[in-house]
This record gives sequence, C-alpha cells and structure tokens, in this order.
Amino acid sequence: CGIVGYIGHRPAGPLLIKGLQKLEYRGYDSAGVAVHTGSDIEVRKKKGRVMEMAALYKSSPIKGSVGIGHTRWATHGETNDQNSHPHVGGNGEVIIVHNGVIENYASLRSKLQALGYVFRTTTDSETIAHLLSHHLEEQIKLGESLDDTNTYLKAVENTLSKLKGTYGLVILFRELPDVMIAARLGSPLVIGVGKGEHFIASDASPLIGYTEEVIYLSDHEVAVLTRDEVEVFHRDEGQQTPSIQTLDQVS
Ligand code: GLU
Repeated sequence: CGIVGYIGHRPAGPLLIKGLQKLEYRGYDSAGVAVHTGSDIEVRKKKGRVMEMAALYKSSPIKGSVGIGHTRWATHGETNDQNSHPHVGGNGEVIIVHNGVIENYASLRSKLQALGYVFRTTTDSETIAHLLSHHLEEQIKLGESLDDTNTYLKAVENTLSKLKGTYGLVILFRELPDVMIAARLGSPLVIGVGKGEHFIASDASPLIGYTEEVIYLSDHEVAVLTRDEVEVFHRDEGQQTPSIQTLDQVS
C-alpha cells in the first residue's frame, strides 16, 4: 500500500518511520522497515499502526543510512506480523517491499519450493523475494561478480520477466550495501533527488520537506539508486535519461 526508501547520510530508520506516518492516510493494516547495517539487513515489522512498529523499532533500533519501509493493505495472506513487509528472500541476501498483486504467485511459489526455498509467509509478495534470490544465484553460477551492480540488475530483470500482476517494488541486497533498486508496473513510485541522498516513495508526501526535485518512474522501468546517482532502465528501450521535475510544478 505505502512505500518509502532512503539512501544517503542520515539515520534511515527514523526517517523511514516519519515517511510511513505521512502515508498513513492511505489506510493499512501493518507496517515495517528494513535497514542495511553495511554487512547485513535487519527488519522490524508488526501488524497494526505505524506507531506500534515505531515502538518496536525504538526498543531495538538499527544503525544505517540505507533502508526501505512499507505499510501493508493485505490482499493475499492474513494480516499478521509475519506477513507484514519487508520480506526476506533466500537466506537474507535480498529484502523487498512490494505494493500490488502478483497474480501467478501460487505457481511461482511451488516452483521455488521445489528448488528448496523455504517460505516464511503466506503473501504473494514473498515469491518476489525468493525469485530474486534464485536469479541472483543463477547469475553467480554464470560467473558474474557479486561486486558488480549489473549482476543484481540482471537478476532483477530476469525476476520481473516472470511476474504477472502489478508492482511497486524496492529492493535491498545484502552484498550491495550502497545501492537500492526499484521497479514499477502499475503501482506508482516517485524518486526524490537530494544532495548526496535519494528518496523513493509511492507518493510524494514523504518527500516534502526534504527535496522538491522528483523523478516519476514509468511502467516497465527499473531504477538503480546510489547516494549520488539515479540510473533508469526501460525493459524494451534500455537506459533512459531521467527527467527531473519540481514538486510544486506537478502538484
Ligand atoms: N499483495 C501484497 C500483500 O498482500 C501487497 C499489498 C499492498 O499493496 O500493501 O502483502
């Protein structure tokens, strides 16, 4: 339902929670955040209001300046702590937040289970996380380097080509602590451009007060965000030159 993401120099956790609070008007049933510590990605998530998840976070904060957050409006799988986003893929090498619905999740789930992936939730979204792990594994088998962002980009593109449905998706990889990857099909995502920092959200409200410069992601586009750069790739048209708009022009 609601997505926020941050890569920069500020503590990510409190910023993500503030962003989720700005998205509360959309309605939701659970909330969560994941923050990259540099060597691992930690998750705090909970059924209920953002305030309740924020209390959990406060009792056990995570140090890091890269992270993603989500407020869920359950479509597949009951509302509980486990089914809240973010979701973990494989053994924790991938973490995602997802807006939308994956229509072919049941067949993907059984294929992934046959490959040995263990599901922790009953959501459609978790299939994306494991599918990303699987395609990352495939890239590694092909001899691609874990230090090269392109390895992850290819894993993302291969994953997206298997999905039927809609997604606003933001992804963190454990072995790629300074990069955030986002993808859109039928569920909006807007990137906020700052100085040495980037924001992403499902609508512009969490960005207000941080930046006025935004890039709207289009369907079938994937964005690779670092602190200083945004690269956008279209499924059929290759790399794009992102057009930066100012918020007061568009709202
Ligand atoms: N289909 C996903 C779920 O049920 C995402 C729902 C949403 O957009 O919040 O968890």
